[in-house]
Amino acid sequence: MNTDYKTKLLEEQKMLVSELSRLGKKDGGTWEATAQGGNETEADPNTSASRFEEFEENSAVIVPLEERLKQVVEALSKVETGKYGKCRVCNNPIEPERLSVNPAAETCMTHIEN
Ligand SMILES: [Zn+2]
Repeated sequence: MNTDYKTKLLEEQKMLVSELSRLGKKDGGTWEATAQGGNETEADPNTSASRFEEFEENSAVIVPLEERLKQVVEALSKVETGKYGKCRVCNNPIEPERLSVNPAAETCMTHIEN
């Protein structure tokens, strides 16, 4: 029964990693934004400013992607240990409807966050 979710999670993980690789690089355990296409020796202040903006934009996008990737990786590790699909709060099985929308869900509908 968990095979479909695992496939979905693996696909999402792949997608997130490729998106993150496009926006930044992995530095230690975390993703750091990089400004793209820049020439490091470029001295034009306008170029530097726009590169800084790009860096800021990339950072803003990376944070939620990285957060999501953590959830996906966590869910995949639960698949491996047989703990997948249990609510983090009450330990009851998470509703299949919820998992089909978000295979990385950590809580049942009763304990949904946000
Ligand atoms: Zn619950």
